[in-house]
Amino acid sequence: MNKKEYDVLVLGSGEGGKFIAWTLAKQGLKSAVIERKYIGGSCPNIACLPSKNVIHSAKVASYFFRSEEFGLTKENVKIHMPVVRDRKRKMVDGLIQMHLDLFQKSGAELITGFGRFIGPKTIEVLLPDGGRQVLVGKKIVISTGSRASLESIPGLAESQPLTHIEALDLDHIPDHLLVLGGGYVGLELAQAMRRFGSRVTIIERNERLAHREDLDVSEGLLELFQSEGIDVVTGANVQRVEGKSGQWVKLHGTDLEGSHLLVATGRTPNTQGIGLDLAGVETMDRGFVKVNERLQTTAPDVWAVGDCAGSPHFTHIAFDDFRIVVDNIAGGQRTTAGRFVPFCLFTDPELARIGLSESEAKAKGISYRLAKISMLKVLRTRTLSETRGFMKALIDSKSDQILGFTMFGVGAGEMMASIQIAMIAGLPYTALKDAIFTHPTLSEGFIPLFDDISVPVKLENPKRAR
Ligand SMILES: Cc1cc2nc3c(=O)[nH]c(=O)nc-3n(C[C@H](O)[C@H](O)[C@H](O)COP(=O)(O)OP(=O)(O)OC[C@H]3O[C@@H](n4cnc5c(N)ncnc54)[C@H](O)[C@@H]3O)c2cc1C
Repeated sequence: MNKKEYDVLVLGSGEGGKFIAWTLAKQGLKSAVIERKYIGGSCPNIACLPSKNVIHSAKVASYFFRSEEFGLTKENVKIHMPVVRDRKRKMVDGLIQMHLDLFQKSGAELITGFGRFIGPKTIEVLLPDGGRQVLVGKKIVISTGSRASLESIPGLAESQPLTHIEALDLDHIPDHLLVLGGGYVGLELAQAMRRFGSRVTIIERNERLAHREDLDVSEGLLELFQSEGIDVVTGANVQRVEGKSGQWVKLHGTDLEGSHLLVATGRTPNTQGIGLDLAGVETMDRGFVKVNERLQTTAPDVWAVGDCAGSPHFTHIAFDDFRIVVDNIAGGQRTTAGRFVPFCLFTDPELARIGLSESEAKAKGISYRLAKISMLKVLRTRTLSETRGFMKALIDSKSDQILGFTMFGVGAGEMMASIQIAMIAGLPYTALKDAIFTHPTLSEGFIPLFDDISVPVKLENPKRAR
């Protein structure tokens, strides 16, 4: 078969892969991206951006339901899910067009089809018309992403549960949505669906929501969800699933019944059936591609980026993976070591964190001073009637450096960015405490926050303290 040769071949058009191809194509390298379905990857098609679009519709709906609080009469409010869906679809169409333009402008080729390795640096593409094409790359990037995990609970697969893909494309409101998994996908979608009018129950196997976060975060989220009428079952052990999502489902082991089931119990890397062994690319126990700090795989001149490489599952991290690979291809030394991994859970209000949480600091034996205030102290929240939550910062007990910041409150994602900039710049917390911020903004809240510094938190194992 005729082989096509490239300088750079990227398998999967997700965040890291597409930016690598566009950048290197612009530098004159012959580059191509193989994509089976979602042009531009999950983020613009089925994940971050569609979810935030639908969540925003749900926010508008929640304003309507609260309208009397703002002096508006609420009469005959109705949610039309086909319109909610169409607004999202329109946005996705626009994003796909934007990606096609970027491929065209960069000179990187977009090849539609399912790709799999048939040998070192050699990928066979199963084309949509049934044909096959063999491609050879001097350098290869694996960027195949991840998908919703489906646990081996008896009856779960047969119940044909929704994943985020279908849940974000519903044209109706479920009567009673059972959400299996209280991680970020489950929490964001649970709140949105509740705000559209669905009865919602979250089923979480751990003893608390967002169990990797500090206790005050889990408690804040629980209180938020309960205040909106969402049922939360923690410590649950679903043993068997009966019925079909969309009709009737029963979760044995909990005795919960609902009309729809959404699975949001983690992610599985898309690394099976793509011939990694034939390419000399090793994987790790859960199927993630084995990479070093430069994102090099075990095969020479083959890199892996994003979710499939086990990088923290965020688009901004996959984007940073792109920077690492391009830098290394150019002879640089950039690595994943010690990079900041900020994240934001787009519930309303948002939960955002950069750097250390209290539990992480304690586990690592790092002594810190704590600054923590209720969002009520940030007067802007009172003007918005969005006073729920808190923000807190960890300050090094010896220097004045900020070690971490967590906010559960309105605008948390944007507020975190300011702290991140201060941390990148190595600013002491006093720089923010003494700054003049515009009144009344949310940022003004940094002043009371950093005015509220505790004495150093005592550690159980002081020997390990810095
Ligand atoms: C509901 C949801 C909401 C999210 N919200 C956020 C958020 O707000 N912020 C955030 O930072 N992150 C968010 N994430 C996580 C984020 O979407 C992922 O971390 C990110 O998309 C990973 O990018 P990636 O490039 O690794 O993989 P992907 O974007 O999944 O790209 C992989 C691509 O490879 C293609 N592919 C796979 N195998 C093959 C093959 N054999 N041949 C050809 N093509 C193939 C796939 O079709 C896909 O297009 C969210 C995830 C979900 C599920």
